Amino acid sequence: MSSNSAGRTWAIQEVSRRTPRVFNWPVDKDGNARKVSDFYGINTFTGKTMRDKLPKNIYSRLQETIKKGTKLDKSLANEVAHGIKEWALENGVTHFTHWFQPQTGLTAEKHDAFITYEYEGVVIERFSGSQLIQSEPDASSFPSGGMRATFEARGYTAWDASSPIFINEDANGKTLCIPSVFISYYGQALDNKTPLLRSMVTLNASALKVLKLFGSKAERVVPTLGAEQEYFLIDQAFYNLRPDLISAGRTLIGAKPPKGQELEDHYFGSIKDRILAFMQEVEFELYKLGVPMKTRHNEVAPSQYETAPIFEEVNVAADHNQMTMEMLRAVAKRHNLALLLHEKPFAGINGSGKHNNWALSDDLGNNLLEPGKTPSENLQFLVFLVASLKAVHKRSGVMRAAIAGSGNDHRLGANEAPPAIISAFLGEQLTGILDDIEKGEVTAQNSEERLIAMGISQLPDITRDYTDRNRTSPFAFTGNKFEFRAVASSASVSVPMAYLNAAVGEALDELYDAITAKTGGGTEFKKAILEVVRDAVIETKSVRFEGNGYSQEWVEEAARRGLLNLAKTPEALAQLVTPSAIEFFEKKGIFTPEEVEARYHVNLERYIKDIEIEVHALKDIVRSMVMPAAFQYQERLATSIKSVRDILGDKYTTEQTKELTNVAAAISRLQEGLVTLSHKYEQAESMEDVPAQAAFFASDIMPAMSDIREVADYLEEVVADDLWPLPKYREILFIV
Ligand code: ADP
Ligand code: MG
Repeated sequence: MSSNSAGRTWAIQEVSRRTPRVFNWPVDKDGNARKVSDFYGINTFTGKTMRDKLPKNIYSRLQETIKKGTKLDKSLANEVAHGIKEWALENGVTHFTHWFQPQTGLTAEKHDAFITYEYEGVVIERFSGSQLIQSEPDASSFPSGGMRATFEARGYTAWDASSPIFINEDANGKTLCIPSVFISYYGQALDNKTPLLRSMVTLNASALKVLKLFGSKAERVVPTLGAEQEYFLIDQAFYNLRPDLISAGRTLIGAKPPKGQELEDHYFGSIKDRILAFMQEVEFELYKLGVPMKTRHNEVAPSQYETAPIFEEVNVAADHNQMTMEMLRAVAKRHNLALLLHEKPFAGINGSGKHNNWALSDDLGNNLLEPGKTPSENLQFLVFLVASLKAVHKRSGVMRAAIAGSGNDHRLGANEAPPAIISAFLGEQLTGILDDIEKGEVTAQNSEERLIAMGISQLPDITRDYTDRNRTSPFAFTGNKFEFRAVASSASVSVPMAYLNAAVGEALDELYDAITAKTGGGTEFKKAILEVVRDAVIETKSVRFEGNGYSQEWVEEAARRGLLNLAKTPEALAQLVTPSAIEFFEKKGIFTPEEVEARYHVNLERYIKDIEIEVHALKDIVRSMVMPAAFQYQERLATSIKSVRDILGDKYTTEQTKELTNVAAAISRLQEGLVTLSHKYEQAESMEDVPAQAAFFASDIMPAMSDIREVADYLEEVVADDLWPLPKYREILFIV
C-alpha cells in the first residue's frame, strides 16, 4: 500500500543525510586561504581595473562623468567599450547583457555574444560604444501600465555608468552585466531604477542649496543605503513537495507547529553547519562582485536569517541588493536549500522585511545626519533632521505606498513588523532637544546665548544606543541614520528609496525658502535657522511617536492625530495618485502624471495577480491533496466504527462517532468554502474597474481564503499522519 506521506518520509530521510557543501575558497601557493581583500571585486569593472584598461584621459573623463552623475559623452563610449571588452575577454566572458530592473521587482537580462563576422567565415569579438550605451530588448511583455501603446511598444535599456559593470559566473560560462535603466521610446520610466536615479539628482540639488547656506564647499550629496536582508531557507526536498511555496512563495495552508518561535532560541543562536556553509559561499560569490557583505546571523523565526552589507551610495546599494537576492537564490540551490524571500511564508511565524538604513553623505565625507561638534554643525544637523521629519510627515501616504504589496499586507500591523501607520522615532535625547526647541523662548540676545538656552550648543553624543531602540517604529533614527524598517523583504529597495529621497528633497526646498525669506528680511542667519527649525518641529509633531507601535493605543492615538492607517495594499497604492502626490512627483522630477498613473496600475495589477495565483494554488492543493486525504481518513473512521459496532454494539461508538462527525463536517465546510471562493472569484473577475477589483480582492477574496485555510489546518491536525501529503511546518521549519 502506498501511503500519501511517502513523499514527506522520503524528504525527511533525504534531509537527514545532507552534509554541509564545501566549495573552493582561493588559496595561495602554500595552500593557505587568501584574504578577502585579495579577490574582492575581481569580477567588477571598477577602480583599479578601469585605470589599467582605459587610456588615462578616457579614464579621468569617465570618472568625472560618474562622479558628477552626468550623461556619458558618446565620443567616450567606443574607447570605454573597448577597454571593457578587453577585460571581459581576458576573464573568459563570451556574452554581454544590459542588466535592468523592470517593475516585476526582479532583474532582467537578454544575452548577446561578442562574436560577429569580420568577413566571410571569420569570427571576431566586437563590442561597440553604442552596444555599451544602449540596447533595445523585446520589451513588450514587461509591465508598463499601458504606457507603451501598441504602435510604439519599444523600450530601451541605457547604461547607468554610476553602478559598476560586473561579470556573472555560471557553471559553464561568464556574462558581462551592464547595469542599466529601462525606459520607453519617449523616455518614460519603465523600471525601478530610473525613479531612483532621478530622485538622487533632485535631492542632490536641494541638499547642496541648503549646505551652501552653511558655507559648505561640498559639490555633491548622495543618499547612502545599507539594506538588511531577511530571508528563510528550507530544504529543497520539502519545498518541492509544497505546490503553494512553488507557485505563490508562501504556504497557503499549514497548521501551527507544536513549537514555533516561543522559546526565542533562534535569534542570534549558533548558526547550523549547513546554513553557515551556505552563507560563506554566498559571501564569497558576492565579494568577487564587489558587494561588501558584512553581517550574518539567525533571525527571530526558525529557519530565518539575515545578511547585511556595509552601506554604499543608494544606487549601487540598490543594485547590490538585487544581486544579493539573486545570489542567495542561486547558492541555495547548490546546497539543496530553497530560498524564501516572501514577506510571510508561514502563518503564525514572524515574516521577513528589509530594513533600509538611510542617510545623506556629501563628497567631503560628511554624514549630514551625524550630530556635529560645534553649534553651527549642530544647526546644520537639525535642518537635515527636521527635513527628514517633514518628509515623513508630508509624504507619509507616498511612503506607505512605496512599501505596499500583497506580501507585506500579512506583516504590517501584525505585531511583528511596524504598523501600517507611518511615524518617526527619534529616541529620548533627540526628542528632548526638539521639545526644548519647541518650547524655546527665543529671547536671548545673541544667537550663541539662544543656542545655549535651547540646549543645542553642544548636542550630546547621540551614539547608537541599543537600549534606546524602538523596533516597532517604521522609521527610526539610529544615531546617525534613519532606518526605514517597513520595507518588504522581496521588494526592490529602489522605489522606497526614491520616494524618500524625493520627499526629503521637497522638505529641504521648503526649509531653504523659509530660511532665505527670513535672512532676506534682515533676520540674522542662526536666528533664522532656529526659527525655521522650530516651525518644522511644531509642524511635524504629529508624526513623531516614541511608544509601542504594535499597541492598540497607538492605533487610536494615531487616528486622533489624523495620521493615515492604510492596512491593505489597494488603499495604500491609491496614495500615489492623490492630486497632492501627483503634483509632488512631477515637481520633484520623479514621474510625470502619466508615469505615476501607469505605475499605480502596474502595482495594482501585480497585487491582483499575486492573489489570483494564490487562489488557484489554494484550490488546487485543497481539491487534490487535502480533500482526498480527508476522505480517506473519514472512510477509515467510518469503517472502523462500523466494525466496532458490529462486534461490541453502541457502547463505545458514541465518542468515536463524534470524531467522525467533526471530520465529515469539516469536509463539508471545506467544500462550501471552495464554492464561496469560486463564486467570489468569478465576481472579482467580472469587475472592470481595476482599483475596485483590487479592493475586492482585499475585502472578499482574502477572507474567503482564510476561511478555507482554517478548516484545512484543522484537518491537518486530525487526519492520520500517514495520509497527509504535504510537509508540515514542524518538518519544514525544524529539519535542516
Ligand atoms: P543594526 O541595525 O543591526 O544595529 P548597524 O547599525 O551596524 O546594524 O547597521 C545596519 C546597516 O546600516 C548596515 O548595513 C550599515 O552599513 C548601515 N549603515 C551604517 N551607517 C550608515 C549610513 N550613514 N548610511 C546608510 N547606512 C548606514
Ligand atoms: Mg537594523
